[in-house]
Amino acid sequence: MSSTPVSLAVNQRTVDENPYMIDLRSDTVTRPTESMLAAMAAAAVGDDVYGEDPTVNQLETLAAEKLGFESAIFASSGTQTNLLALLAHCQRGDEYIVGQVAHTYKYEGGGAAVLGSIQPQPLDTRADGTIPLDRIEAAIKPDDIHFANTRLVALENTIGGKPLPMDYLAAVRELVDSRGLALHLDGARVFNASVHHKVDIKEISRYFDSVSVCLSKGLCAPVGSVLCGSAELIDSARRWRKVLGGGMRQAGYIAAAGIVALNENVERLQDDHNNAKLLHRGLSAIDGLNVDADCWQTNMVFLPCGEATAGRLATRLKEHDIIISPAATTRLVVHRDISTDDIETVVMMVKKVI
Ligand SMILES: *Cc1c(COP(=O)(O)O)cnc(C)c1O
Repeated sequence: MSSTPVSLAVNQRTVDENPYMIDLRSDTVTRPTESMLAAMAAAAVGDDVYGEDPTVNQLETLAAEKLGFESAIFASSGTQTNLLALLAHCQRGDEYIVGQVAHTYKYEGGGAAVLGSIQPQPLDTRADGTIPLDRIEAAIKPDDIHFANTRLVALENTIGGKPLPMDYLAAVRELVDSRGLALHLDGARVFNASVHHKVDIKEISRYFDSVSVCLSKGLCAPVGSVLCGSAELIDSARRWRKVLGGGMRQAGYIAAAGIVALNENVERLQDDHNNAKLLHRGLSAIDGLNVDADCWQTNMVFLPCGEATAGRLATRLKEHDIIISPAATTRLVVHRDISTDDIETVVMMVKKVI
């Protein structure tokens, strides 16, 4: 494999030539780790539409095992794995109950409705990200020709950086069982939740019929998400993935990074949580910044400083190679490419600007 050292060298040079930025916009900005690059360069590949890419197959088996499901499917994004789940659980004219601010409702272009003729029933969430059980229960439609068929409840964990309480998961499971519904988890950052609760991931995933996990956020893979579920559900998802144009060929090159993500980068999420806590503590000590005690959760800190202040802050921080997305409540996301030293730099610079 004479091309291997060349491709690694090219990547390293590209990274080194980039100015060093402290990018707090999202954990999606993480670059692949060295062991990911090595695994990608060495990956055995085949045509995954024929089911013949050994590395994709290995990733799917690994994800299913880790989360305790029969089967799993690799796709290009979390938006796609969520959509595959909705399309596999629901038929045209069915309905899913979902939080008003949930990614699967608010941030995925209405995909379930656009592409699946599936009606969302959004409900307000509490500050902790939970949807009250009585609201879910009241939204379930009776079997009546006037209504869509309620088929599914979709939760998100973590949501806005907040890990859902473990007893809430059990309570929702009990409710959906009593009403014959399925339960999907948008677990884009579900490993942040398991690390936060100090439980094996299965202690969370066992309450759900399907779980979508992003490999490309805090877990540092460059591309991709997995959807886990029963063999029957994943067969259906595989059909839908092809329909959506999501069938990939030698995708083992990117799946290889996903395997490393699941094997090597889960426990280290605790470092991000520690750094986020440090960031929260540092920002809390700054006069004139309104940082609430509860605005630190897992790997995110929220600054409710208003759009104007956030805009000024973003402009000034940019001059010091610190990037944030200004908003009325600005979200700062900590990840593997943010060190403890970076946190100190950020706190110092914010203090200076404020
Ligand atoms: C990022 C994210 C997704 C979608 O993932 P993409 O890979 O960006 O499409 C879904 N749900 C949540 C909660 C997310 O944060």
